[in-house]
Amino acid sequence: MAAGEIFVPSGIASVADGIVWDATRSRPDHIARPASGLIDDFLRLGKGTDADILKFAVRWGPLYLCDHDLPVGHNLLGTTPCSLVPAGRRRGLVSESFAAWRSTSTRFMAALQVAVRLHATQPGFRTDWITLAGRWPHKRQPSIEGQWHRLLSLLNTWIRWGRVRPELVHGPARTRPVFDLAFAGVFGALTLQVAAVVARSDGFAFCSACTDLFTPTRRPVAYQRRYCPTCRKRGAPVRDAMADRRARLKTGGS
Ligand SMILES: [Zn+2]
Ligand SMILES: [Zn+2]
Repeated sequence: MAAGEIFVPSGIASVADGIVWDATRSRPDHIARPASGLIDDFLRLGKGTDADILKFAVRWGPLYLCDHDLPVGHNLLGTTPCSLVPAGRRRGLVSESFAAWRSTSTRFMAALQVAVRLHATQPGFRTDWITLAGRWPHKRQPSIEGQWHRLLSLLNTWIRWGRVRPELVHGPARTRPVFDLAFAGVFGALTLQVAAVVARSDGFAFCSACTDLFTPTRRPVAYQRRYCPTCRKRGAPVRDAMADRRARLKTGGS
């Protein structure tokens, strides 16, 4: 396998409350190469159905979560390293709950929401911080710099969990090796994409119509809708403005 590829196990199926697969099978169903839309699809799973999660997992592989609903890599060096969660009695069968998938997706979304605010030199919302860190992670009222510091330290933790690291691979002509970024599973691939988006100096925003991430041409104004180029072309801003107008007329406003 080359850097930047995901080994997707075969036979991922759904049970009542999550997905299961046989972790002892050594042959992959297929090898997936993450494309730019990966993160958008994952962010939708926070509000997605069980079927949406299964479809994503079959295509991109499991998150490899332990009992703590965190990637097993979060605790590799402890006295009792974490492992995948056995499903029932059949040897090798492991599972991940849909709830854990949704909360992971929601945490990624919260990280990006906080980053959107910080890029606009505004503090991240309290609710996003609580989703992201499990609690309000600051002392008193943190500065923008303090919030950046906390966000980056969280993202660096995910980078460790996803085992994002440089790796030597063959160059295109296979004559000399080049450095590439490798990662473990889809969690690592997603973390890498989130980190790349957050590090973008020109910032980014979520489209009000399709919720995809995009790079705005001018700095978004707080509390105003913003649209990706595709939705703009499809007339989403005009449709929303007309809907606003109808709503105003109904309530008797001006
Ligand atoms: Zn654990
Ligand atoms: Zn859009």
